[in-house]
Amino acid sequence: MGHPPALLPTEVRGAEQALAALAVQARAELAALAYPERAWVQPARADGAHVHDVLIVGGGQSGLTACAMLQAQGVANVAVLDRARAGSEGVWESFARMPELRTPKQLNGMELGLPALGVQRWYATRFGAAAWQGMDRIPRTLWMDYLRWYRATLALPVENEVEVLDLRPAPQPGLLAVDTRSHGHTRTRLARLVVLATGSDGAGAWRVPAFIAAPLPAGRCHHSSDAIDFSALRGQRVGVLGHGASAFDNAVAVLEAGAQSVDLCFRRDRLPRINPHRHIETAGLMTHYARLGDATRWQVARHFRDVDQPPPRGSVRRALALPGLRLRAACGWQQVHWSGQDIAIDTPQGELRFDHVICATGQAFDLAARPELQTLAPRVARWHQRYAPPPAQASETLGAHPYLGEHYEFLPQQAADDWVTRVFAFNSASYVSHGPHSTSISGHKHALPRLVRGLTQRLFLDQEGTLLEGLQRYAEVELELPDDFEAAHSAPTEHAAPLRDPA
Ligand SMILES: Cc1cc2nc3c(=O)[nH]c(=O)nc-3n(C[C@H](O)[C@H](O)[C@H](O)COP(=O)(O)OP(=O)(O)OC[C@H]3O[C@@H](n4cnc5c(N)ncnc54)[C@H](O)[C@@H]3O)c2cc1C
Repeated sequence: MGHPPALLPTEVRGAEQALAALAVQARAELAALAYPERAWVQPARADGAHVHDVLIVGGGQSGLTACAMLQAQGVANVAVLDRARAGSEGVWESFARMPELRTPKQLNGMELGLPALGVQRWYATRFGAAAWQGMDRIPRTLWMDYLRWYRATLALPVENEVEVLDLRPAPQPGLLAVDTRSHGHTRTRLARLVVLATGSDGAGAWRVPAFIAAPLPAGRCHHSSDAIDFSALRGQRVGVLGHGASAFDNAVAVLEAGAQSVDLCFRRDRLPRINPHRHIETAGLMTHYARLGDATRWQVARHFRDVDQPPPRGSVRRALALPGLRLRAACGWQQVHWSGQDIAIDTPQGELRFDHVICATGQAFDLAARPELQTLAPRVARWHQRYAPPPAQASETLGAHPYLGEHYEFLPQQAADDWVTRVFAFNSASYVSHGPHSTSISGHKHALPRLVRGLTQRLFLDQEGTLLEGLQRYAEVELELPDDFEAAHSAPTEHAAPLRDPA
């Protein structure tokens, strides 16, 4: 699942050594800005068991950056768990099939304000400044390369092939129990706080609509997020449902694999032309979105669902350049049948027949579909419990979204379940509360500091009870003076002992 060779720039001579030197520089810059670097979170005790101050579920770009930001804030006792193999986290080298990121290359936020840690410097070091200038969007697999370099440069504590199975309150007050499985072994870890950086399907599942999946034999019906064997589609008639980026990227993959035809079908009369995401990418909005009133946030969420966003220019151009593509607007699928030989689909344009179908229908919002949320989901406040929209703006799906606090923390339905406020949803569960952009790459610069401030605030306030005692016990000598200093200086004398400068 590579991308066209023409897109890959050529490395400059000595790129590997130059990247190693860049990593050294990035670490030096980080160290130069580290003051006050002293760890400040008091270790929690739990009968000898280790307690993580923050456990991050998900080692994609969000989890990595959250971890780096916490460390920069003096919170070192953090671990990142990811069920994926090391270096293959997130969507980039699994089912994302586009050659380039959809985000403009000027994206930033992961680099903690240090250009040496940012993707621009990384790219220019590896491929030359001219390559960066000449490139429109960052090639997808190079973005993943950058994420691997970022993780290695900061030596982030990521544990791979560890799946989180459930989160619940631990017997010890103020702690969470996190059940995990790794290579068939289950164990329970303890943490004060948990961040769910579980991605764009973190609040649900990639799902083929039931009326399509039910009548079709396995192997004839795929979701665009499946690991599809495109070579098996050679010479076949393929129907793709959807008009988003993944619909076009999958259509390209199918046609490049030698399929006879692709009918790309969607319900709308025309493809969306305007991308509302670009309009909301302002520092003001992305920083302060969560402070907007409920009615405004609700209407923004509705607007994004109603107008949708256009597929990326590059994906559309690539698909249209291939023979065999038919675009079918106003062609929603109504009924699906299996003839025994092929697939028959009723549409407003009559019956269409395919050998295979691919549904690029995104993810279904469904907290219950996530095993790690089985205990938490029934206990968290939902939008429909906090806000009643005018009937014309009602939406069952948006209403089921969790009503999160200002720092992405879940809020409880019942006061007795206050433990849920120790879990932070930096994933698609934040769609209504924090805006449609907030966990995407372009939102990171503004959203992650809000998350991290919430985490450090909670850790800090948890230890309020010991603040005064610690201050009173504090006994580190800064000014060293002889024992008889006060006696010698209690009254002016002609020959006072000289003050010794400890520095
Ligand atoms: C095809 C496609 C293209 C996209 N292109 C762009 C783009 O160009 N720009 C953009 O901003 N966004 C894009 N997105 C959205 C994109 O997914 C997010 O921006 C980005 O991946 C978010 O990063 P993340 O770290 O939050 O989540 P992810 O990168 O999805 O990482 C989540 C991680 O959590 C792990 N995980 C999940 N559940 C568990 C569990 N229970 N236990 C342990 N680990 C778990 C997963 O293994 C995964 O590695 C795209 C999405 C898709 C599907």
